[in-house]
Amino acid sequence: MTLRAAAALAVLLVLAAAGCERAGEGPRPAGEPGTVAVPAQGAGAPPNLLLVTVDTLRADHLGFAGYPRDTSPNLDRIAREGRWFRRAYSASATTGASHVSLFTSQAPPAHGVTANNQRIAPPDELPTLMTALAARGYATAAFVSSVVVGRKSGLQRHFAHFDDELTTKELNRKARYERPAGHTIDAVLRWLDAQPADRPFFLWIHLIDPHGPYAAPDDPDRYVGDAHASRLDVELPAGDSDWSENAIPRYQVLGDRRDASYYVARYDAEIRYADRELGRLLDELGRRGLYDRTLVAVTADHGETLAEPGHKRFFAHGATTYEEVVRVPLVVREPAGAERLAAVDVERPVSTLDVAPTLLALLGVTAPPTFRGRNLLVDALPDDAPMFSLGSYGTERLEKEVGTQFGVRRGPLRYLVNSKDGSEELYDHRDDPAETRNRIADDAHAAPVADLRSGVAALVGERSRIAAPAPLTAEQEAALRALGYVE
Ligand SMILES: [Zn+2]
Repeated sequence: MTLRAAAALAVLLVLAAAGCERAGEGPRPAGEPGTVAVPAQGAGAPPNLLLVTVDTLRADHLGFAGYPRDTSPNLDRIAREGRWFRRAYSASATTGASHVSLFTSQAPPAHGVTANNQRIAPPDELPTLMTALAARGYATAAFVSSVVVGRKSGLQRHFAHFDDELTTKELNRKARYERPAGHTIDAVLRWLDAQPADRPFFLWIHLIDPHGPYAAPDDPDRYVGDAHASRLDVELPAGDSDWSENAIPRYQVLGDRRDASYYVARYDAEIRYADRELGRLLDELGRRGLYDRTLVAVTADHGETLAEPGHKRFFAHGATTYEEVVRVPLVVREPAGAERLAAVDVERPVSTLDVAPTLLALLGVTAPPTFRGRNLLVDALPDDAPMFSLGSYGTERLEKEVGTQFGVRRGPLRYLVNSKDGSEELYDHRDDPAETRNRIADDAHAAPVADLRSGVAALVGERSRIAAPAPLTAEQEAALRALGYVE
């Protein structure tokens, strides 16, 4: 059996298992909280689901979040027509682990994917957002824009259609294939045109553009030198590795520019470019009569440290879990006529583990029992619910050489522990929203710190319920080394 055939068989088995489980459930009682009746085929197909993850998109650089640059007119439209969850936190600061958490509704220690230098797919037997929807008759399709979530990751086994035809290469890491949003959206539109009108679809689109290096294919200098350029204009040395501290990471270096505000402006232009392509997709959905019949959710896998004093790294993510890296945008717009989100308190904290159960509830689909997140329609979190976020971990190199962070935001406090030396940090957002003053030695915080410390330790120490990821093949290892993920 070829690998692909084996993978297809694995997916079929998952689907068959899911189908059997549901066949035994019988009809769901009317009025069950958090679900709606799915119209029978012929009485109007169930709504489609469009989930967009914009890689490395900070929550606070968007128009609807009050950012002064006009980075996001189309995301602003989705936020206006739907709801913006103001305090959404990603379970992981790194791409692979974060996406797997989004799809499985489990934290990295539970699903076992903790970094990018692994086979990053959720284990075949672990139910995902896509397998739950496939079991209900949805066509499932993914269009990704980076090799990190491409076919080598194994994520494709959870989708019926998986498009990772990467068309370009990163500026400074030539082995790292990617594609700009324009090419990805073109591929999506071609797929949509081939879909039967009466079958609902789940479409996951991953856009890579805001991920560094910041070189938007269109108008990359649109914000350079504008009135909002004064953020933190420091000069930084060029780093000698991709994990350099207090320097520009090697893969981020843009020519001979060393001024931080230039890089921030270029990052914002990437957002603007991705947003424009997202707007084109929304318009095309409208032209095809699909926009009103589609549940739309946009979020990110993590944010990015740009120029935050004291956070050690610049233009980086993965190893730190400060606010700017783990707070992500989350906007959800219901299909026309649906207003189930209207009553949800969007000021409450939300984890990306809550996204899949909530989207399933909005589609009237029962979440798999392995999902650990909440259905936000019925289960709002308390204001002080702990929002855990883990940096990339699981290898000696990440934990002891690079140094990663494990952290939690609870109420106004953020607690972090550094893997390298066990040092701790505590920030209080009531008077320090930029997380610049470490209060860990402050006696007044001793009691909450003890709680937060044991919560983080328990999460990181949780043994995965699944087998450890398969060791890399020589080919995979060579590919990852070329990408700078392993040395
Ligand atoms: Zn990412």
